Amino acid sequence: MKDLLGGKGAGLAEMTRIGLPVPAGFTITTEACDYYFKHDQKLPPELGPQVKKALARLEKVTGKKLGDPKDPLLVSVRSGSARSMPGMMETILNLGLNDRSAEGLAEATKNLRFAYDAYRRFVQMYSTVVIGLPKEELEEKLRKLKERVHAKLDIEVSAEGWRELVREYKEYFKSKTGREFPDDPEEQLWGAIEAVFRSWMAEKAVTYRRVEKIAGLLGTAVNVVQMVFGNKGDNSGTGVCFTRDPSTGEKTFYGDFLLNAQGEDVVAGIRTPMHLDELARRMPEVYTQLERVRDILERHYKDMQDLEFTVEDGKLYMLQTRTGKRTPSATFRMAVEMANEKLISKSEAVMRVKPEDIERLFYPIIDPNMPRSELENRKLAVGINAVPGAAVGKAVFTARDAEEWAARGEKVILVRRETSPEDVGGMFVAQGILTATGGKTSHAAVVARGWGKCCVVGAEALDIDYQQKVIRTNGRIVREGEWLTLDGNDGAVYRGETPLVRPKPPEAYYTLMKWCDEIRRLGVRTNADTPTDARKAREMGAEGIGLCRTEHMFFKDFEDPAQSVVRQRAIQEMIIAESAETRKRALDKLLPFQRRDFIGIFEAMDGFPVTIRLIDPPLHEFVPHSREDQEELAREIGVDPEIVLRRVEQLREANPMLGHRGARLCITYPEILEMQVRAIIEAAIECQARGIKVLPEIMLPLILDRRELEILEKRTRSVADRLIRQSGSHLKYLVGTMIELPRAALLADQIAEVAEFFSFGTNDLTQTVMGLSRDDAGRFLVDYVDPNKAGIFPDDPFQTLDTAGVGLLMRWAVERGRKARPKLKIGICGEHGGDAASVRFCHKLGMDYVSASPFRVPVARLAAAQAVIEERTSHRPGKFSSRKKKGEGGPHSVPKR
Ligand code: PEP
Ligand code: MG
Repeated sequence: MKDLLGGKGAGLAEMTRIGLPVPAGFTITTEACDYYFKHDQKLPPELGPQVKKALARLEKVTGKKLGDPKDPLLVSVRSGSARSMPGMMETILNLGLNDRSAEGLAEATKNLRFAYDAYRRFVQMYSTVVIGLPKEELEEKLRKLKERVHAKLDIEVSAEGWRELVREYKEYFKSKTGREFPDDPEEQLWGAIEAVFRSWMAEKAVTYRRVEKIAGLLGTAVNVVQMVFGNKGDNSGTGVCFTRDPSTGEKTFYGDFLLNAQGEDVVAGIRTPMHLDELARRMPEVYTQLERVRDILERHYKDMQDLEFTVEDGKLYMLQTRTGKRTPSATFRMAVEMANEKLISKSEAVMRVKPEDIERLFYPIIDPNMPRSELENRKLAVGINAVPGAAVGKAVFTARDAEEWAARGEKVILVRRETSPEDVGGMFVAQGILTATGGKTSHAAVVARGWGKCCVVGAEALDIDYQQKVIRTNGRIVREGEWLTLDGNDGAVYRGETPLVRPKPPEAYYTLMKWCDEIRRLGVRTNADTPTDARKAREMGAEGIGLCRTEHMFFKDFEDPAQSVVRQRAIQEMIIAESAETRKRALDKLLPFQRRDFIGIFEAMDGFPVTIRLIDPPLHEFVPHSREDQEELAREIGVDPEIVLRRVEQLREANPMLGHRGARLCITYPEILEMQVRAIIEAAIECQARGIKVLPEIMLPLILDRRELEILEKRTRSVADRLIRQSGSHLKYLVGTMIELPRAALLADQIAEVAEFFSFGTNDLTQTVMGLSRDDAGRFLVDYVDPNKAGIFPDDPFQTLDTAGVGLLMRWAVERGRKARPKLKIGICGEHGGDAASVRFCHKLGMDYVSASPFRVPVARLAAAQAVIEERTSHRPGKFSSRKKKGEGGPHSVPKR
């Protein structure tokens, strides 16, 4: 229904169906919008008669007529697509007013001022939205009028004032368009319908869909709904509310209300509204009814709803319900609490969380070590804490500047008096958003919340001067380009650059992740090269290490940085060595370092499996390339500088990624393999003796042939078994390989005869299958993934698996490998192991585990659970069980390790 009627239309229809107070109306479907753009902006021929019929029905139901000189029907014409795009498209209110019906409205309501207030709003909206006249000029006329009649606020302007403004607007309209302002309500209606359609393709809407990755929708629907008025006096008003707190997720009624105001005043953030508690005090009956609606709608939709309502003369009308946007932290809390309340199931709760929610959960906060007194000194103002997290950046005053500065690599805070949907591009690139007006439900807040972007609104103490590009407050001035810090947790605005740190996730996060772990079948490991990373990954829920890149240990001593240079020198001495003897001596220096690292990693993993990959990069990466550094190395290791120079020349490679690397290195220099295996096994034996359970898995990279693997596997086992024998221990270990080259994948059955496990190195596999360099392709891949440019791939294949190509080869390798060795353990350790879509694919292939960098471990846990839930819901009972015969060893029969 949503696809056809849009979110707003579907919500209105559904609320009407379940008996809530909704004003009467009808919806033109998104198909009509689709037709409009496919036919050179022409309306479908059947639309005319259909709208006529619907309008007649609306007139009958309401007992009023559009344009009636006595008590006229007025309508709103509002957009609404299947996916919520807050404020990105157009709305026209009070349609149906002209000089006669305005008098009729005044008569019927006994309120001349109200009637002309509605009329001037309509003429302004119609002129700007439908005809495209500049809003600023009309606003300027309003400002001048208020000045003339000495009114500070709109509510101080009299009926006569508004009547005069309507006259001015109409004159202006005529001078700009050469014709009279349309008096005929039907003409007005068609103008508005087309304007709403056109707003689907307005720049801000297109930009929003691009940044939100919204694609495949037909267009916007158009809702034509009887007007109800929140601006009829102090017994009327308009508001926006959420059935739970969208910032924290707490189950409290949350919202903003403006007394005596109409339509968009709340969301546009022009006036700072009052809290719902205030509504409860002023209109207790309305509030009680609203609470009941809140309860009904949340139980109906089984999710937090974002509601718009209007109170007309003490009577409540619901104008919209949609699933509300929320912060990542609130996403977790609501999902868990709703499952605990039995509103939804645990599986539904898990499906509610998106991978981005996890990433955003670890949003920065101001470093708690920052002295409070210093912060107080820097405080400029306190606004409304619309979206939590903290942000630091340089002040910019227009969305365009924000985009330009960000493109240059600057961090910016977008500072606006109020944001309008036109600012969406600038908001997206900004670190944070600051506005002087508006409430928590203003567009700025709603859009920023969806992105989890820090946002402070309603900081009224700030005088924002667009002309001079400065903020003035209490005698202080902040100029463009000066640093600002926003604290979205308490709404504080500070001048200067402040250090930020990452916070602790909420309790609900741990509960939900536990549910994920209970559901998922895939194991989740981590890529970690140091004991520190390994410990971090354990905290994030990793169940082992899927890739330890040992060469990283050659570069740096993470535990004792002063020792880094000793390690580097040892590996360089090994490379420069001209005989096996000297090479061994250098490696002996490295051995204790590697052993120490492995001990730390085994300790951190405490019984979980640890896959350690032997050296992979080409040796030239380890030697100095400037003459000066080469001479220094020669001095330190006591050889002639010419020897160093010669060796560096020898190692130079035309294409290092396809050169002397991976398994090829250990074929040429078996001493390296021997040292590394020795370090692993000695560390494991030592840990085992101390009572730590260890499961080492020795992994050979970039294998391209069975024979090559066999040579290295034999060598590995001979070193390992000798050490185990000598120590008298019963250490168990595995020897396996990475699948990173198409040849290895194609001949996986042969490779599996030797390897006890496979780990897909999809970084290299992607580059070799695609023939794209993983280091350089970023320069042109942007065009390949941008749908507005070449649009060849849906995603960057180095981030999200190319399931069609690379995935096909993986599927082949899994099947072939398992045929040769049914118990073959299979994982993935390329970057894709932390990408949700790729994790789902790995689940489908029946892999045993994925391995991701520590911070992406929770994303992998979530995606692995979601894969199971999706599988359950897509398999209809009978069908699934017939596919999986016992003992067949199909992809779903792999046990979780
Ligand atoms: C890979 O190629 O996917 C991999 C994990 O190895 P590396 O990135 O170290 O080449
Ligand atoms: Mg690799």
